[in-house]
Amino acid sequence: MGNVVLNLEMNKIMEMRNFYGKNLLDKNIPGSVFAAKTSACMITAYKSGKVLFQGNDSEKEAGRWGSASASSKKPSSSHSKSVAKGDLPTGIGQMSAIGSDEVGTGDFFGPITVVATYVKKENIPLLKELGVRDSKDLNDEKIIAIAKVIKDIIPFSLMTLKNEKYNQVQQSGMSQGKMKAILHNQAILNVLDKISPEKPEAILIDQFVQGSTYFQHLKSQKAIAKENVYFSTKAEGIHLAVAAASILARYAFIQYIDKLSEAAGFKIPKGAGAQVDVAAAKLIMSKGRDILPSFVKLHFANSDKAMALVNKKRN
Ligand code: MN
Repeated sequence: MGNVVLNLEMNKIMEMRNFYGKNLLDKNIPGSVFAAKTSACMITAYKSGKVLFQGNDSEKEAGRWGSASASSKKPSSSHSKSVAKGDLPTGIGQMSAIGSDEVGTGDFFGPITVVATYVKKENIPLLKELGVRDSKDLNDEKIIAIAKVIKDIIPFSLMTLKNEKYNQVQQSGMSQGKMKAILHNQAILNVLDKISPEKPEAILIDQFVQGSTYFQHLKSQKAIAKENVYFSTKAEGIHLAVAAASILARYAFIQYIDKLSEAAGFKIPKGAGAQVDVAAAKLIMSKGRDILPSFVKLHFANSDKAMALVNKKRN
């Protein structure tokens, strides 16, 4: 997939909007002035002046408006602090890197989703432009909008551990830490495979256990990604690949919760607070207890709390 980015003046962008009049899309992309689609090119113009061309005709379309070589060589902004935390290589934030993160481990309802992405250093400014940052600062609406755009720009792999499988492996004695290690490793291997023969300069995992424990968990795995693997807490703030992974993992989680809501017939809440006990009790009352393993992480204390609610109502 070809990508070209131009930096243009706003009057030029307005001119473009007229030019692509018939091809304009009714799409609400955060920070954008317009989006348009020709037969072989998707064009998105941003308030900052960046214009993104994607698709087979990206070079041809971009060529009408300017030259990428002249515009792409903007030195990285003041934002590019090279955080060197712990054992991380200096400047890792500006390297071409794979990042991985997970969502759903603390939610009673829904799966664990793990995503690894590959972000090349030259794509870092573009991702910033698209609004990629710490997903904890973004609401679901923003997450969805950003995810829909970046999923076509960067290579990634999504691993979803559905509730039924989760409960099976949990009951067989596997810790959540080990499940996560296996999912992260698999997602990373998938991305390495996708980008081969290219190799990332670094692989950054949003840390959930010590590195030694992580590799201990992976001992029985056939293949293990080891080379240039680094761990850091709050890694979303260190490399955009982790922030992008986190956004895509949350997007997948939200979509899954939507599916569960549809199956339940009412809106399934996130988290592990009192509201999920009430929702689970409602689910049990309407569909029976046997439905629970395909909706929730059974070993959470919420299961007993939900049953207590059900019994109270029945008495
Ligand atoms: Mn994380």
